[in-house]
Amino acid sequence: MARKFLVGGNFKLNGSKESIKEIVERLNTASLDPNTEVVIAPPATYLDYTVSLVKTPQVEVSAQNAYLKGSGAYTGEISVEQIKDVKATWVLLGHSERRTLFGETDEFVAEKVKFALDSGLKVMLAIGETLEQRQAGITDAVNERQLTAVLNLVQDWSNIVVAYEPVWAIGTGLAATPEDAQETHANIRKFLASKLGQEAADATRILYGGSANGKNAPTFKDKADVDGFLVGGASLKPEFVDIINSRQ
Ligand code: PGA
Repeated sequence: MARKFLVGGNFKLNGSKESIKEIVERLNTASLDPNTEVVIAPPATYLDYTVSLVKTPQVEVSAQNAYLKGSGAYTGEISVEQIKDVKATWVLLGHSERRTLFGETDEFVAEKVKFALDSGLKVMLAIGETLEQRQAGITDAVNERQLTAVLNLVQDWSNIVVAYEPVWAIGTGLAATPEDAQETHANIRKFLASKLGQEAADATRILYGGSANGKNAPTFKDKADVDGFLVGGASLKPEFVDIINSRQ
């Protein structure tokens, strides 16, 4: 089954009106592989602005987080309704920085995934193990635990994209090897198949994230279960286009 290649750009807490304009204009004018879906996630303060700058339907805009209520007394949060109101179409949930720095549990992430999907947003669900967990040989168990929390609440995964992001590879310059990523992605897909059925698992895109860049992206080209990338640091740079075009 053909899964459309997807490259996400997670700007994290970076950017200004000026730099985001530069990034989006580059995407508007570059020759992008038409077979790649592109999703960029600016900080919430620039969501509306980013949507207004994007000139190609190939590029969609994502929030980096969202709360699990539509509105109310939740100071400092942003809602899926507001994300939809500014015509962003995706939300990134479960990023390891949210899990570790802001104490988001598997269950909390899962509730937010369910709420976002029920509200009509598409979700990039980030999972992945720490270095200690990898060294302890429990990578698959950690991924399965994080996925299970969502599987307990969500049966239809057609609007979920999984981003496998080993924590030790994020922002370190130490990407997983294509072989290691492929092995873990295949295990994730096998696990999803055991819970959702083979057809749904085969249709679910699994992105790799963690120090992906313009140089290493093409080396993942022949890995059958790597369906794209979630890019942090390099999404702010011109090489983001090379990652988008890395299947060409
Ligand atoms: P990185 O971040 O590409 O800078 O390693 C990836 C991510 O956290 O999504």
